[in-house]
Amino acid sequence: MNEGLLVVISAPSGGGKGTILKELFAKDDNLVLSVSATTRSPRPGEEHGKQYYFLQKEEFEELISQGKMLEYAQYVGNYYGTPREPVEQWMAQGKDVVLEIEVQGGAQIKKLMPGCVSIFILPPSMEVLEKRLRDRGTEEDATVRKRLEKAREEIPHAKDYDYVVFNDRLEDAVEDLRAILRAEKRKYHRNETAVERVLDHAETVR
Ligand code: ADP
Ligand code: 5GP
Repeated sequence: MNEGLLVVISAPSGGGKGTILKELFAKDDNLVLSVSATTRSPRPGEEHGKQYYFLQKEEFEELISQGKMLEYAQYVGNYYGTPREPVEQWMAQGKDVVLEIEVQGGAQIKKLMPGCVSIFILPPSMEVLEKRLRDRGTEEDATVRKRLEKAREEIPHAKDYDYVVFNDRLEDAVEDLRAILRAEKRKYHRNETAVERVLDHAETVR
């Protein structure tokens, strides 16, 4: 079995992670998305266990103290974290696991699992980011402003990621992500056993 990829994807809020990943998941059966836990309130249409596990602060802190979070961070006044168990199980099954997380969590994962593939998604400009956040209509004006400020802090962290993808035209961004994952899967160290198998087979047919 080939080793699966652990893929860390970060982007400023409104950068287009959700939109791009939806396209990516539609055409890749081996890709799974880790469902995070958060203490923020659900947005209209969001369901517990689907977009997030929506928890109370005390419940979240309990999971941290039990070591059940692979990583976690505070973001604009709320906790966000990756439940450890499903990620470990999927990786053992050879699945490619995507963590859609912010930059503090991304740094924790890179340290913990240096073999992960990290990708930073950027909007083409701050103006476009603001427009997309406002048009999405899921946040109050004050929250949009907070998220834009946060974006200015986050974008410089793109330098700590393996790849950057610019989300200008959606189709191009999706194609870039697919190309990155495809190339990563062909790295030698992820194919050592498969290479050995080629030779073994040659021995048996000779
Ligand atoms: P994130 O998940 O990073 O917070 P979303 O995927 O929700 O961001 O995208 C933010 C908004 O921008 C959404 O309303 C989405 O429809 C829109 N959007 C995302 N990518 C593009 C794109 N390439 N072109 C135009 N609009 C986009
Ligand atoms: P939102 O509230 O817009 O859904 O998410 C806010 C930010 O939290 C986004 O940057 C998102 O990627 C990040 N985030 C979501 N889940 C996690 C997680 O499990 N861990 C960390 N560190 N960040 C997360």
